[in-house]
Amino acid sequence: MAKGDHLYDCYNPPKVSFERGEGAYLYTKDNDKYLDFIAGISVTAFGHAHPELVQTVKDQSEKLWHLSNLFRVDGQHELAGKYCKALPWADKVFFTNSGAEAVECAMKTARRYQFGEGRPQRIDILTFSGAFHGRTNAAINATGNPKYLEGFGPALPGYINLPFGDHDALEAAISDTTAAIMVEPVQGEGGLRPLPPECLRGLRELCDKNDLVLIYDEVQCGASRTGKLFAHEWAGESAYPDIIAAAKGIGGGFPLGACIASGEVAKHMVPGTHGTTYGGNPLAMAVGNKAFDIMSDEAFLDHVVQISNVLKQQFESLKDEFPDIVEDVRGKGLLCGMKLKKKNVDVRLALFDKGLLVGTAGDNVLRMAPPLIITADHIREAVGKLREVFTQARQWDDV
Ligand SMILES: *Cc1c(COP(=O)(O)O)cnc(C)c1O
Repeated sequence: MAKGDHLYDCYNPPKVSFERGEGAYLYTKDNDKYLDFIAGISVTAFGHAHPELVQTVKDQSEKLWHLSNLFRVDGQHELAGKYCKALPWADKVFFTNSGAEAVECAMKTARRYQFGEGRPQRIDILTFSGAFHGRTNAAINATGNPKYLEGFGPALPGYINLPFGDHDALEAAISDTTAAIMVEPVQGEGGLRPLPPECLRGLRELCDKNDLVLIYDEVQCGASRTGKLFAHEWAGESAYPDIIAAAKGIGGGFPLGACIASGEVAKHMVPGTHGTTYGGNPLAMAVGNKAFDIMSDEAFLDHVVQISNVLKQQFESLKDEFPDIVEDVRGKGLLCGMKLKKKNVDVRLALFDKGLLVGTAGDNVLRMAPPLIITADHIREAVGKLREVFTQARQWDDV
């Protein structure tokens, strides 16, 4: 085969490449400017090249990058302490490099808990249609989407994917082999679907009744994106989980994930049961600590709530103005978007040409996850570009 591009063909990015970023903007070599309303898919939550994060990386990079977990990493204790103080139910943290690894740790913790409590037959992780939990072998099985599983061998035992929002189907699926229920409080990839607070409380009740572990995958909707540190907090105390998987925004662009658990469910994760080489390295911990301090600040959270209300109002007016293009406004906080009547990918590409970066999600949704630092001016600019493209899209075929 002729040699060409040497990268795996798993992605299909546009030809344009970015050289630098600043706040909510990305710039090409030729200084073309793009407004970034996807933030590396909910990752660069504080914008690009945030001065405090840049300084943190500079300072730490001159001291210590990597130790492995053979040695004590002070930053891990510091950051775990912050998370467990902020989350009343949480007591133990395992740091990873990615969301999928955080999900893996969560599922292992749940199974190990059942095993340790004398219920080793309880291995099934119940998940829901439209879910996304990552791309490792375990995570694609938990995700349950046939598209991600095809060609990678038989589906693994111990994962049951159920219809989204069907409480009766869920109750019927619980058996003496069930270990845990795992759900995203706001489905990201599946089309920005928030789970109503009463559903989360219902899950908590079911888990209590059946000795199941409740896992929230907050990889995309956590990290202050909805205006609370984690999205489940909107549902109050009676929806507290046993474990959350976090990543994406918690590192502000530095690879960092965390599995955060109650002391009870984590008690059987003893030496030898789990590990990672890079997870929790000093460089990631320095950034993670700084990112936590920024995103847990009350004034910062207020800003996210306020600015996301502005964005939502703007989307609602776009829906009124373009009923032939916009079917529905979706999401929660700054994980938001619109279900469209024209092909979402075509709209995304047309917006790219106008200098606005957005994503797509399932159910023909145009997905946005702007940096949490955006202002009303950024919103005005984005809405202007959306209006231009929606006007163009009136000539296009419906989906
Ligand atoms: C992105 C994502 C993951 C996977 O995270 P990676 O860092 O890509 O491994 C898992 N769960 C959810 C909800 C996600 O959005």
